[in-house]
Amino acid sequence: MKIFNFNAGPAMMPAAVMERAQKEFCNFNNTGCGILEHSHRGSAFQGVLDKTNQNIRDLFGVSDAYDIVYIQGGASMQFAMIPMNLLQGAADYVDTGTWSSKAIKEAKGFGEVRIAAQSKDTQYDHIPAFSEWKLSDDASYVHITSNNTIYGTQYPSFPKTRAPLIADMSSDIMSRRVDVSSFGLIYAGAQKNLGPSGLALVIIRKDLVGRTPANVPTMLRYETYTRENSLYNTPPTFAIYMIGLVTDWMKEIGGLGAIEKRNDEKAALLYKAIDDSDGYFSTPVRKDSRSKMNVVFRLPSEELETKFLKRTSEAGMIGLKGHRSVGGVRASIYNAMPLEGVQKLVELMENFRKNN
Ligand code: PMP
Repeated sequence: MKIFNFNAGPAMMPAAVMERAQKEFCNFNNTGCGILEHSHRGSAFQGVLDKTNQNIRDLFGVSDAYDIVYIQGGASMQFAMIPMNLLQGAADYVDTGTWSSKAIKEAKGFGEVRIAAQSKDTQYDHIPAFSEWKLSDDASYVHITSNNTIYGTQYPSFPKTRAPLIADMSSDIMSRRVDVSSFGLIYAGAQKNLGPSGLALVIIRKDLVGRTPANVPTMLRYETYTRENSLYNTPPTFAIYMIGLVTDWMKEIGGLGAIEKRNDEKAALLYKAIDDSDGYFSTPVRKDSRSKMNVVFRLPSEELETKFLKRTSEAGMIGLKGHRSVGGVRASIYNAMPLEGVQKLVELMENFRKNN
């Protein structure tokens, strides 16, 4: 049976990427050994790194004003690295969920954290309107979470801010076209749209590198990574190689324009199934803030949710259980999820509603 993996991350990878990695695993580019056996200082890996950086520049529209680096420790490490490197005095944070809150908690150790806007008071059911944000004049930066993996909300667009805008794009990186030039720093744990877990992709505007206080350790300074092209120490070479394959695949299927269109189509299909169910399926998320990556919904009772999750997994659709903190159902439909997977889910939803 064909399995469709709806996990939130680590998540489904494109089938073509998995097959290519398997094919090249023991013999990369006719070198007689696998990429994970190659020195990070050798030409085989250097080629992988350069290609991966270029793919990201081409696909995402990253100009020379930015450096692209890979840093271990996932997105959670960035929660601390950002304030360590960039918080001088105060910073503005927008609290739209669990991951924003974790970023806020880390920043508090390094300066004054001001909550410019939040949706906590309404169980994180929306992205606060930009017109309501209280941004401060002296903030070092403004931090947002572009897609809230647990609550299923997503910024439909981004604000223009005076202070550098920093975005945690872990769960929607390169899922749509974005004007990178309106950000000071973009970061993302790789395990949803890019590749293996354990590292973060960081895109940082060059003028922000080098503001770091002298007492910050070498491995926690952005300049260590930008100066050495992510090769100060041994980077996670295999993970970077996988990001290279995923970005090759993104180019092959037509780039971010085509990917965005696919993602719009998948999300529209799933939300339509929810909206057309006469309230049988319901989402707590406000319509203007619905995520196209993590579609969160409920059934009339927890018993029915348990039964639904059993049915879906019997039908080969795994990873649909909502995050342990909110319950319900969550369908994570990142770039690698084909339309076919969503169609299959929607079909099962309709049948389930009729029979239960
Ligand atoms: N930010 C967001 C939006 C996430 O979804 C996650 C992980 N699910 C994280 C941060 C944390 O990422 P990591 O596990 O790589 O530290």
